[in-house]
Amino acid sequence: MRIEKNYSLLKHNTFGIDAKCHRFVEYETVEEAQRVTEMLAADEPLLIVGEGSNLLLTGDFQGTVVHSAIKGIESALTANGDILLKAGSGETWDDVVACCVENGWQGAENLSLIPGEVGASAVQNIGAYGAEVKDLITEVEAVEIATGRISTFSRESCAYGYRDSKFKHEWKNHYLITHVTYRLRTVGAPLNVAYGNIQAELDKRGIAEPTLKQLREVIIAIRREKLPDPKVEGNAGSFFMNPVVDREVFESLQHQYPDMPHYNIDEAHEKVPAGWLIDQCGWKGRTVGRAGVHAKQALVLVNRGGATGEEIVQLCNAICQDVKSKFGILISPEVNII
Ligand SMILES: Cc1cc2nc3c(=O)[nH]c(=O)nc-3n(C[C@H](O)[C@H](O)[C@H](O)COP(=O)(O)OP(=O)(O)OC[C@H]3O[C@@H](n4cnc5c(N)ncnc54)[C@H](O)[C@@H]3O)c2cc1C
Repeated sequence: MRIEKNYSLLKHNTFGIDAKCHRFVEYETVEEAQRVTEMLAADEPLLIVGEGSNLLLTGDFQGTVVHSAIKGIESALTANGDILLKAGSGETWDDVVACCVENGWQGAENLSLIPGEVGASAVQNIGAYGAEVKDLITEVEAVEIATGRISTFSRESCAYGYRDSKFKHEWKNHYLITHVTYRLRTVGAPLNVAYGNIQAELDKRGIAEPTLKQLREVIIAIRREKLPDPKVEGNAGSFFMNPVVDREVFESLQHQYPDMPHYNIDEAHEKVPAGWLIDQCGWKGRTVGRAGVHAKQALVLVNRGGATGEEIVQLCNAICQDVKSKFGILISPEVNII
């Protein structure tokens, strides 16, 4: 187990914010995770981090930050020919995807290059290009912080929704995730190429029937083209959630903005892309001090170099205000602001 005092979190957040925490604790095994739970006082501020790719630190953290360094990827073939893959919560998510693709195990390829670790994949229900990790997860193993007991949760008990799970609400700060098990297919079902510009990119490369490897390469290329690399320009991916609006509000806006993109949720609600709203307010590509809005995707806020978390929050607030004044819609951050 690793324990550090007055520790810089620079390596643990992709926004590149140089904030410190009072204490940093890292567990490498389930037993160490159990020992960590004994060290945590009930009234002490707690922050569990993975790679910090969905995190914005606005200052030093006056409490304990806990990180999993549990490694290992084990696979087992089931009777029906599927693969059950159990990964340590400290594994890098994209290494898991690479392992699946290399072995011809299907299901994770559309989730290629999403930053972050295995533990967070099960918290966030990561998704991209028409796929969500909840459709692969079979169970999540964790240590309960209050008791040190090992718990195993089925996919159903995690109540997965769009980028959502019980780990973000009633189970928040209640469990240290240790392992996640995913189910992959070995027998090829049709690959999911319908989403976004995957098909266009495959056509451009003259690929009619992509292999898993080719599909992964195409997705990686599209993502590299569209999104800033946190190692070059600090960011946390999509900063805002796409707002869901009442039909009445939506229809009145659609009258004013006939080109407004939208996705039906149900009879009473419609989802509007926050990136489009922000772009319409003229924010795409703008810079305010050391913070800015990515030039290719208005949903992504970036650290242009040396920005503080507060500067990013100020930019976020200015954008939210402009969207509210222009469209009457309240957008809110998806990123954890601490
Ligand atoms: C460039 C970029 C692109 C992105 N693209 C996508 C995308 O396409 N799709 C998508 O869904 N997301 C995307 N994201 C967001 C981010 O990658 C995901 O949310 C990811 O799952 C976060 O992983 P992390 O390890 O960094 O977790 P963190 O940000 O550190 O934590 C996320 C949450 O998980 C909890 N957590 C982490 N580890 C544990 C653990 N061991 N036990 C208990 N709780 C834990 C934390 O407390 C927190 O609530 C993107 C981010 C960036 C920077």
